[in-house]
Amino acid sequence: MLRKLVNHAEIEMTLRPVEPLLIASGVPNATGTDLPFVLTYRRSADAGEPYLPGSSLKGVLRSHAERISRTMAPKARVCDPHFHPKDAAKEASALRVPFCGDRLRPRKGEDGKWESHDLYRQSCPICRTFGSTVYRGRLALGDAYLKDGEVPRIERRDGVGIDRFSGGASRGVKFEMEVLTQGAFRARMRLENFEDWQLGLLALLCRDLEDEMISIGHATTRGLGRLKGLVERLDVMYIVPPTKHQLDEKRVHGVGSLLEDDERRLYGFVNDDHFSLKRAPALKPQGVRRVQSFADAEVRRTFFDDAIARWSERMDGWMKS
Ligand SMILES: [Zn+2]
Repeated sequence: MLRKLVNHAEIEMTLRPVEPLLIASGVPNATGTDLPFVLTYRRSADAGEPYLPGSSLKGVLRSHAERISRTMAPKARVCDPHFHPKDAAKEASALRVPFCGDRLRPRKGEDGKWESHDLYRQSCPICRTFGSTVYRGRLALGDAYLKDGEVPRIERRDGVGIDRFSGGASRGVKFEMEVLTQGAFRARMRLENFEDWQLGLLALLCRDLEDEMISIGHATTRGLGRLKGLVERLDVMYIVPPTKHQLDEKRVHGVGSLLEDDERRLYGFVNDDHFSLKRAPALKPQGVRRVQSFADAEVRRTFFDDAIARWSERMDGWMKS
């Protein structure tokens, strides 16, 4: 991990279910259903309230990002977390790439560990962003809680036909489950020390959430869990001394353009880690930071276009860099 923070981006979204949603809790609740919905007790009230766990959100966004990359950016050769070197020996596949977490794990008999910049440099774009078993990643996603004043609705459903543990199909076992059919949740994503293309990846995910392409929880292939997202806030921030870095507000500056040569090389960042903005809001000082808020929905849309174009270009040249 880079020991300093030079830039970060924050996105706030509202998420609501457009299909009944089941995120099952491991602990039983007072209703006695077989598969109760996961609850949080954050307001120290007697009754818990439903929420969307950050780990579940991060998981579905990661698999979606992998799928998008394999389809639209095959040259980036993103890894498959379910494909391990022992399988690779059996199944020679030009399409499946073994998991970075296995590839970069120190082997027995090898002395020394990889430094974190080596792990970053050698990880695929998805593991650089979401992390792996050996690297923490740059994207943080908190639990999404109900928005203020929001009244959720949880309904009991008959779960016949859905395996109560895996969410897959099962044969005629009857049980009850709780699904969430209504409620708006506030999700926050934060990307630290981002490279320019990482904002494009994030933009693709936000778009697909807005287009109802992403599902969460159990039995998503059986008509449960589709979400509708709406981006409410997008801020890009820099924490670099103004005396050293004259930031151009018509550009988004990736981490590589904000470091010294030696650091940049260690992590494998590029020199021209930035892209131009067609529509650029003002860059405003805010304490030690400089902040660019993409408050207008139309400006956010062009920002997403610019960022996605950059992602596409970088992924195309990934193996060459
Ligand atoms: Zn990877």
